[in-house]
Amino acid sequence: MAREFKMAIVGFGGMANWHRELVETIDHLTVKGVYDIKQERMDYAKELGLKAYESLDDILADDEIDLVLCATPNDVHKEVVIKTLNAGKYVLCEKPATMHSKDFEEMIAAQKTSKLFVHQNRRWDEDYLTVRNILDKKMLGPVFKIESRVHGSRGIPGDWRGTVEHGGGMVLDWGVHLLDQALQMFPGKITSVYATETHVTNELVDDGFTVNLQFENGPLFVVEVGTSNFINLPRWYVMGRDGSAVIEDWDLSGKCVCITDWDKNDAVPVKTTAGLTKTMAPRTEDTISTQPLPIVHSDIRDHYKNLMAVMEGKEEQLIKNEEVLRVLRLMECIFESAEKNQVMPFE
Ligand code: NAD
Repeated sequence: MAREFKMAIVGFGGMANWHRELVETIDHLTVKGVYDIKQERMDYAKELGLKAYESLDDILADDEIDLVLCATPNDVHKEVVIKTLNAGKYVLCEKPATMHSKDFEEMIAAQKTSKLFVHQNRRWDEDYLTVRNILDKKMLGPVFKIESRVHGSRGIPGDWRGTVEHGGGMVLDWGVHLLDQALQMFPGKITSVYATETHVTNELVDDGFTVNLQFENGPLFVVEVGTSNFINLPRWYVMGRDGSAVIEDWDLSGKCVCITDWDKNDAVPVKTTAGLTKTMAPRTEDTISTQPLPIVHSDIRDHYKNLMAVMEGKEEQLIKNEEVLRVLRLMECIFESAEKNQVMPFE
């Protein structure tokens, strides 16, 4: 008979509620209760039939709890994770695991009988998996540039995300996902990092950034996050010698356009008001083929299934803490590059 696992949540805000709803669809795992510093969230938990714990210590004293989800603002993660590991319970920590890589090293070191998992859930994003599939299938020939972007137009949400002390800003919020995806695609050495930040609506923390990552023997990878963009740019734009691919948005609309005939290179010059160009003229349809994206589907529940299998000693962790640590170090390199306005080396 399969083992039953019980989980408790610390920080019962928006993301924690997403986890609660997801866990309802997963066999052999139940959310038993929550602890939040806000009374209204504790009241909501009770309405849902969950136990309202008085403190994190109260959770840790409950022998029935196997796993604690930490979904507090980012500055609280370290304390919750270390206390939970010291109590011998497993812990799933929301991203970014913490605000500084040195803190994460301490969190990793606190693992003794139990383990720390970090929720890099966007490894299950279908747009990302589809780009990986385009690369695996070599649809575009050698790829020399990849652009990965997310943009909104509402600035930073007016909560803790706009503050330094709680670990706000877009590098820590969205950068952590997009950089994790980039390093998963290209685990090799990065020869240079150059980053700029925006402060359109917030002086204290970055409300957007652009970073150029040059991979050794790999592409230039541009990661960009913005919160003041009123016209959508593609979520992904991939350029190879033999073709280009675009994924427009979260709905996976897009296409691959690939060369079919290199020899037929005649271009009808484009006449603009001020001149003429053959170089920038569009290709004729008989020299290219437009193909649908090779879409990959995923199931985010696989992350929790891996977590339970690890707790039973049956599988290795899919999201490795050394990978999480490298992303945290890369984010520190990005902050330094932006502050100094300099190209930085990275391991
Ligand atoms: P939120 O503000 O909606 O929720 C945070 C909750 O934590 C609040 O209810 C707050 O009262 C509570 N809290 C604060 N300090 C606490 C403490 N010391 N002890 C107990 N509770 C405390 O924020 P959110 O959007 O749910 O984000 C929470 C975490 O989830 C952040 O780390 C964020 O980066 C992460 N997140 C991850 C994803 C993802 O896709 N992986 C998406 C959104 C948010």
